Amino acid sequence: MDSNNPKIAVIGAGVIGMTVGAMLQQELRNTNITVIAEGFKEDTVSCVAAGIFRPGTSFKGPTKEVTKKWINESWYYWQDILKTPEAPLAGIMPVSSYIFSKENYFITRNHLIEDLVPIYRPVEKDELKLCGEGWKYGSYFSTIKIGCDRYLPWVEKSFIEKGGKIENGRIDSFASLRSKYDLVFNCTGLGAKVLCNDHDLVSVRGQIAKAKAPWLKMAFYGDYDTYIIPGIDGVATLGGVRQYDSYNKEVCKYDAAAILERCYDFIPSLRKAEIVAHRVGLRPHRMPVRVEPEVVDGVKVVHCYGHGGYGVMCAPGTARDAIKMGVDILRSNARSKI
Ligand SMILES: Cc1cc2nc3c(=O)[nH]c(=O)nc-3n(C[C@H](O)[C@H](O)[C@H](O)COP(=O)(O)OP(=O)(O)OC[C@H]3O[C@@H](n4cnc5c(N)ncnc54)[C@H](O)[C@@H]3O)c2cc1C
Repeated sequence: MDSNNPKIAVIGAGVIGMTVGAMLQQELRNTNITVIAEGFKEDTVSCVAAGIFRPGTSFKGPTKEVTKKWINESWYYWQDILKTPEAPLAGIMPVSSYIFSKENYFITRNHLIEDLVPIYRPVEKDELKLCGEGWKYGSYFSTIKIGCDRYLPWVEKSFIEKGGKIENGRIDSFASLRSKYDLVFNCTGLGAKVLCNDHDLVSVRGQIAKAKAPWLKMAFYGDYDTYIIPGIDGVATLGGVRQYDSYNKEVCKYDAAAILERCYDFIPSLRKAEIVAHRVGLRPHRMPVRVEPEVVDGVKVVHCYGHGGYGVMCAPGTARDAIKMGVDILRSNARSKI
């Protein structure tokens, strides 16, 4: 293999794989990069996600500092696109949100983004009566949303235009890539459970409904994992459930009924919205998210998977670290060949 023109594979075409591929092209111009995946665009978990920039407070990298760095770098990456005319094409939009609770104020706070987003404040008493009933505590914040239904086609198009290659296929072992690639980025999400025999990676099953509600302009979070998040095209995401270690990809009618009932109680006008789809996604949950290099069967691999419920928002920050690790490997490859 030519050390001046290394061959790189990215396995996975969800938000992590495609963001790694796109950012790699910025970092290493004129490099041969191929994204290989079993599923693309709407066939990924990424496309089920609402894509709001609001990490759960338990989101975890290897250290607190790294976690915060991933979040901050991701925020500024998305902000840079948001400032351009490309933003709507990439599915990125600003969104304001209320988070209410009947239980306690603490769970409406978010130490990971309070110093980052333009506004994060406690609500006034009157705001507790805006929608739903019986709210005792709440916070208001401004953030962004990245809709992967637009982002994935947008980033794939740009990746191909810049010379990137796309291959459809399933990878069952890293060894099968040994003779073809100098470096492999493993962005397989929950697929890494089998590919890497990683028992720390667990599915947290999610289910959502899609409702045509163009009048809805704000996001709302309530207790019991209830959320309503508007979309760029007037279709809101209604959720949800978080079912630990559940691998069922089928829509469950009981979950669907419970989600709709909770959301209708919260925002009664949603009863008038047409429900256009129900979707299921298995979140790739791992504590901590795995961003690290490893040599597997003689193949130089950088893992970037296990983002749980926060992979859309955090893709750029984790991708940047993974790419730094990959570039270090390529440099040491080149030095050892001198
Ligand atoms: C209901 C729900 C709501 C969510 N809401 C949000 C949110 O608001 N904000 C947020 O940031 N995140 C959210 N998430 C989480 C987010 O969707 C995930 O963290 C993110 O999509 C993970 O991206 P990924 O690229 O790792 O995985 P995926 O999107 O699953 O992509 C994995 C890719 O790897 C490929 N692959 C896997 N194994 C193999 C193999 N062996 N060979 C070849 N290809 C393989 C797949 O085909 C696919 O292309 C939500 C998730 C769900 C389910």
